[in-house]
Amino acid sequence: MADGHRGITPQREDFSAWYNELVTKAGLVDRGPVRGTMVIRPYGYRIWELLQADLDERIKATGHQNAYFPLLIPESYLRREAEHIEGFAPELAVVTHAGGKDLDEPLVIRPTSETIVGEMMAKWISSHRDLPLLLNQWSNVVRWELRPRLFLRTTEFLWQEGHTAHIAADDAMAETMLALAFYQDLATQTAAMSPIAGEKTPGERFAGAERTFTIEAMMRDGRALQAGTTHFMGENFARAFGIQYTSSAGELRFCNTTSWGMSSRMVGGVIMTHGDDRGLVLPPALAPYQVVIVPLGRGDQAQDVLPAAIDLAARLTAAGVRTHLDDREQLSPGFKFNDWELRGVPIRLELGPRDLAAGTSVLARRLGEGKEAVPLASITERVVDELSAFQDMLLARATEFRELHTATVDTWPQFVAAVARGWARAFHCGQKACEDEIKAETAATPRCIPLDGEPETGLCIRCDLPSAYGKRLVFGRAY
Ligand SMILES: [Zn+2]
Repeated sequence: MADGHRGITPQREDFSAWYNELVTKAGLVDRGPVRGTMVIRPYGYRIWELLQADLDERIKATGHQNAYFPLLIPESYLRREAEHIEGFAPELAVVTHAGGKDLDEPLVIRPTSETIVGEMMAKWISSHRDLPLLLNQWSNVVRWELRPRLFLRTTEFLWQEGHTAHIAADDAMAETMLALAFYQDLATQTAAMSPIAGEKTPGERFAGAERTFTIEAMMRDGRALQAGTTHFMGENFARAFGIQYTSSAGELRFCNTTSWGMSSRMVGGVIMTHGDDRGLVLPPALAPYQVVIVPLGRGDQAQDVLPAAIDLAARLTAAGVRTHLDDREQLSPGFKFNDWELRGVPIRLELGPRDLAAGTSVLARRLGEGKEAVPLASITERVVDELSAFQDMLLARATEFRELHTATVDTWPQFVAAVARGWARAFHCGQKACEDEIKAETAATPRCIPLDGEPETGLCIRCDLPSAYGKRLVFGRAY
């Protein structure tokens, strides 16, 4: 293994090793004792909290309410929707023994909550006046993972799951698209990722859904990360659980339902979208510390520096900037610079005796060369502007990277080359067997039918049959 920066394998050499080493060295996460589980450490959990707070606000602003459903679900509930149980059976963790004896009915640890929410919705909804019912819950779920990856695919993970019931199919479809916009906006505006939004092909749909939509983001190794999905269930779950309402004309009808989820894998997405060989690069909107202040100077020289640094930190905090003063005594400035670079803090401010005498502080950004002296008198406004510019720069960089690594292709050799370095926009026949062949040969799968794709037809990239879907699909290798 080549000796990378601070002992982290360079991305180009082994992206996967880079990721695994970085998430632990930066203090985000550790492996739990049970295979596939993770311990989210405070620095990593803060990133999740910031994502969570942002999304929660979007969810509540559109009339949804948070609720909480039990972790344990009777196994029989999952069997009521045939496709649902078939899809989730291989990943279920089941409790068969509790309270010192075997249980009469096994209990599933929720892999997702459509079934138990459906059961309760059937109880709560009776009239058209009860609709729409717009619920969300923040919780953990368990899906037994054979190939776990920290944050990206863990046996237990954190997420939110929205569950809604509506009168008309059109209303439920509008809700499905509204939730997709939550995710697209969160990922773009807050996480500075540049995902594309689209619909999943039938082979990639959620178990039990009529239509599934997704946002797909490109990581810096060219792979896709599915970062949020929304599902239009039609009447499938309403029929399985008896979610019915009496219409204004007095007729008994089934509801149309939706569900949608975003999880802690988004934290992994942020790391793999922005990080580099020097460590994390955090978008200011998600950075636990947006600014770190490092006081310089030793002994007598430092006497006046620390009070000034404390004052500077207080001014920035009062301006709403998440600021950390690194006043650790035993560590050299160089060590601290490297440490905060590794941890992805967007802006570093250095304050030494000479700076103080000049009435300035030295500002350094996590990306880009060069430092500059900034007058202390106007530093708060300047830092706020710098953070905003840094956020915009990361989004622009992610967008440029995705565009550079996406190719529109019409021949098989072009396709193979495109998915080896990123994504391919290509026609497909819509046949599952053909999708499977493509996957077997290239490891690429259809990520989505992009919403913004031009209406177009052509011949399947693999088998030359006429294309389905009326536009090109986006293919890529995925996490
Ligand atoms: Zn084909």
